[in-house]
Amino acid sequence: MKTKSVIILSLFLMGFACDQNTSRPDHRIQVAASILPLQDFVNQIGGQEVTSFVVIPPGASPHTFELVPTMLRKINNSQILVLNGLGLEPWSARVIDTVGEEKLKVIVTSREINALATETSHHHQHGEHSHDHPESGNPHVWLDPVLAIKQVEQIAAGFASAFPAHADSFLARRDRYKARLLQLDQEIQVKVRSWSHRDFVCFHPAWEYFAHRYGLNQAAVITDRPGMEPSPARMAHVIETLNRTGAKAVFSEPQFSESLLRAIAEEANVSVVQLDPLGTTLENGGYIELMQYNVAKIESALK
Ligand SMILES: [Zn+2]
Repeated sequence: MKTKSVIILSLFLMGFACDQNTSRPDHRIQVAASILPLQDFVNQIGGQEVTSFVVIPPGASPHTFELVPTMLRKINNSQILVLNGLGLEPWSARVIDTVGEEKLKVIVTSREINALATETSHHHQHGEHSHDHPESGNPHVWLDPVLAIKQVEQIAAGFASAFPAHADSFLARRDRYKARLLQLDQEIQVKVRSWSHRDFVCFHPAWEYFAHRYGLNQAAVITDRPGMEPSPARMAHVIETLNRTGAKAVFSEPQFSESLLRAIAEEANVSVVQLDPLGTTLENGGYIELMQYNVAKIESALK
């Protein structure tokens, strides 16, 4: 009884507060970002001028995500939509069609990045394509801090052109954040030099850009397309690769079930180490903390 009346009272107060605010006192720019790392970039660049939300909820995989109508409405009320591109957000075309590009500024952060081809473009299994877009390469560019800088630059340029009154603040924040990302890159370079192993196997090709940047080798992936079960032939290939390369670990991800990886790891007698490409396991940290977390995990397997 008591709790009920408290709830009703607070609902009443909330309603009252909303009535007072019909003129929308929040003048901040509303920005939708597709994934958590991009939302952090948005906040780093936007500062107090921006309020942001993430489209793909923590714990969901972009590769299997479907947009619900409430989220479409939320994006509809935003001024800017920040995307990764490279086929990571197949739902975005419909959103842009529905909302209209004159109402919603779209920033595709991978625009200036030369994408790596995905595994499937080498061995085509009857029309099966990684990440839906036949023309696109591997979308996981944000996991290389140097490419992340290019994404940050796109966001800053997009914000500055959409809201020129705040351009100076956006560009100043961009420069400060770029310096921190370069420092992160240096930090990782120093660490990697002391690792004795270079080869790893991971669940899907998330760590390809990271490997490319730091001289590591993604020896095999369990699936090119999350949501699709790997064939027995693929499983056998992964186990053979683990044995041949002497890779120390299989990297899993919180977005996908570990049971398959456990079976493979057991067969090849290596450990399973969970990495987090999206920031799902981090409560309050941003992109830099996410990368430091991942690097520490990778180091535990490869050092
Ligand atoms: Zn992915």
